[in-house]
Amino acid sequence: MVIMADERIDPWGNAEIRDYAHIFKEFGLNAFPEEWKKSLNHRLFERGIIIAHRDFQKIMQRISSKKPFINITGIASSGFLHLGHKADIDLFKFFKDCKAKNYFAISDIDAYVSREKIPDMEAAKKFAADNLAHALALGLETKDVYVQSRKEPRYYTFAFELGKKITQATFEAIYGHVDLGKVSAGLLQYADILHQQLKEYEGRMPSITGIGLDQDPHARLTRDIAQRLSYDIEVPSFIYFKHQSGLKEGTKMSSSDPDTAIFLNDSSEAAAKKISNAFTGGRNTEAEQRQLGGNPDVCKVHEILLFHHPDSREVKRIYDECRKGKWLCRECKQFTSKFVVQFLKKHQALVKKKMPIAQKIVYGK
Ligand code: SF4
Repeated sequence: MVIMADERIDPWGNAEIRDYAHIFKEFGLNAFPEEWKKSLNHRLFERGIIIAHRDFQKIMQRISSKKPFINITGIASSGFLHLGHKADIDLFKFFKDCKAKNYFAISDIDAYVSREKIPDMEAAKKFAADNLAHALALGLETKDVYVQSRKEPRYYTFAFELGKKITQATFEAIYGHVDLGKVSAGLLQYADILHQQLKEYEGRMPSITGIGLDQDPHARLTRDIAQRLSYDIEVPSFIYFKHQSGLKEGTKMSSSDPDTAIFLNDSSEAAAKKISNAFTGGRNTEAEQRQLGGNPDVCKVHEILLFHHPDSREVKRIYDECRKGKWLCRECKQFTSKFVVQFLKKHQALVKKKMPIAQKIVYGK
C-alpha cells in the first residue's frame, strides 16, 4: 500500500528538511538504531549522518552472515559534484567493501528529462562523464557503474513494465503533479533500484539504496511497486542520510547556488574562500568566544569535518574544544581549509587520470 500524506516532499526541489521527527512519523520511517551504528564501524554511521531506514535489518543479516546483497544508488548528471555527493559515494563504497553486488547508475536520461536546466542529452552526457570520473577517483571501479543511456534493452523493457503498475492518481498523490518528464525519470529510477533482481541479473536478493530524506517519495513508490510485480523479488531496503547543509545559514548544499557548496572541481583558492565565508557557530567577539565557547552544532565549518574528516577522534576533539572556547573560528577555518584543499588536490589529480576511462564508458569510444 502506498503511503499517502497531507504534506509532500519534492524530490526535485531545493528545500532544506529540518523537522526530521515529523517526517519520520508522517511517512513511517524507522530511526537508525544505535547498536547498528556501532557495529557497522564507519564514520557516516558513527557520527549520526545516517538517520533512518526502511528494512535495513535484511542488510544487517546479509553483512553479518557474509552473504551478498545488492548495492544500488545513482547520480542524476545535472551538474558538477560537490561534497554532499561525496558522502553518497562514500556510503556506496562502504557497502561495496562489504562485498555487495554493485550498481551505481549515472542517470543521464533522468537528468535531461526531469530538469529544466539541462537543455539536451549532450549536456547530460557531459556532466555524466565528469561525474563518473569523480566517482571513479573516489574509489569506484568501472564494473560498479553504468550509464542509463547505454544500458541493455532488458532494463528498458522492465522500466516500461513498471509503468503499468502506477496509475496517474498514485503518481499525483505522491508527487503532487503528473509531469511527463518526471514520470519517465521516475520509471527509470524504479528500474534502477529493482532490475538487478530479475533472473537476467542477480535474481532475488535484498538490496540497499542510500538516499536523502527528500528522495523518500521514490523509495515509497518503488517499494509499493515491488510488492505488486509478478516477478519474485525482495522489497528493496533504504537508508536515509542527513544531507550536508549549505555553507550559508539555512541552505541546502546545492549545485544551483555555487556559494552554498564546495565542488569537487573547485580550485584551492575558491574552496578556501568559501570556507572563510561560511556560517559558523562562533561568538561576536574573540573574548566572548574564549569565555563562552562556540556552537559546533550549527556550524557549517564543523559540518565539513563531521561529514568528511577521516579521524573521528580528531573531529570529537575539535567539537569539545570549540565548546570550551579553545578555538577561534579563524583558526578553525584555516585548519578545515587545509584539510579540504589537501583532499581536493589529491582527488583532482586522480580525476584527471580517470577522465578518459569515464568518457569511454559514457560515449562508448
Ligand atoms: Fe565552528 Fe570552529 Fe568556530 Fe567552533 S571554532 S564555531 S567549530 S568554526
